[in-house]
Amino acid sequence: MPWPKVIIVLGSQRGGTTIFGRLLGELEGFVYAGEVRRLWLSDPRKPCSCGEPLDHCPLWSRVLERVCAGGVTREEIAGWQGGHLSNRHSWLGALRLLWDGRTGCYADPELAAYAEVVRHVYGAVAELTGARVVVDASKHPNDAVLLRQLSDVRSYVVQIVRDPRGSAHSVQRRDAVRRARRNRAAPEAGPDRAGRSSAHATLSWLTRHAASEAVRRLLPADRSLLVRYEDLVERPLEVLGAVAAFVGESPQHLPDLSAGVMDLGVSHSPTSGKRMLAERMPIRLDERWMEQLSRGDAVLTAALAWPLMRRYGYPLQPPPARSVHSTTAVRSGLQQRR
Ligand SMILES: [Zn+2]
Repeated sequence: MPWPKVIIVLGSQRGGTTIFGRLLGELEGFVYAGEVRRLWLSDPRKPCSCGEPLDHCPLWSRVLERVCAGGVTREEIAGWQGGHLSNRHSWLGALRLLWDGRTGCYADPELAAYAEVVRHVYGAVAELTGARVVVDASKHPNDAVLLRQLSDVRSYVVQIVRDPRGSAHSVQRRDAVRRARRNRAAPEAGPDRAGRSSAHATLSWLTRHAASEAVRRLLPADRSLLVRYEDLVERPLEVLGAVAAFVGESPQHLPDLSAGVMDLGVSHSPTSGKRMLAERMPIRLDERWMEQLSRGDAVLTAALAWPLMRRYGYPLQPPPARSVHSTTAVRSGLQQRR
């Protein structure tokens, strides 16, 4: 079986990467593999998003078995990843990887070994699922750089961007839910610390998208794509069809979304923290931030993120709900690198 095509999804927290990956994974010939880089960091007894512990998951248990058959352990692989492709400051890691791989291969034996493992993971996922395209929503720019150096893997980068005010509001809501859950589980520990501020979430959005832009500029135009979350959920069939064409695929059937819902199958995402079982999911724009994000947070977020917001076509003063697109510059929803 030939090596699969791989789509590396870049983006920020609560920025639409999961919904993009899950929708894309429903196309014939595609498989959504979640955040693959977390495979090495998670306790194998913890559940995959399919509900089974990783070491019993019908997909990842077999992938791990194959990858570790040569004697390498998950702990070793996690160590290689932590040393060369850390989650923290991944934009710096991406620059370092570019420098290390300027000769077309990695001189550092750990980095070379890690790259080989990653290559085999994608190969095993494709073989076990029968997919031609593996969608990896790890979100980190340094993963995209690493893959660029693997000459026998045909890799594509899709950057998913969402209005930073929507992302910041979603991060706040998620933090509040987690805080409430922890406080219920251990009330004797006292109130949990406050969630991240809008400024924190926005700076994270900014650094992640600035790094993603930098990586995309290094790629040939036919390997790099920008998709807005808002366009994806407003015109899912158009966007999914365009992404499939971008990677050279032409699925026989696109899903029926006429009722505004999509039937999603079980997903296997390591350490997703959330079950992604088969479900009928409404496809609709989450615009709650327009009513629920405080004016102060909305102004602060826009002030910090304005250079990139403008680039992506997000207006300072959004129109009323569900008409975001009418005043935006990015009408197609898809932009190849200029
Ligand atoms: Zn699973």
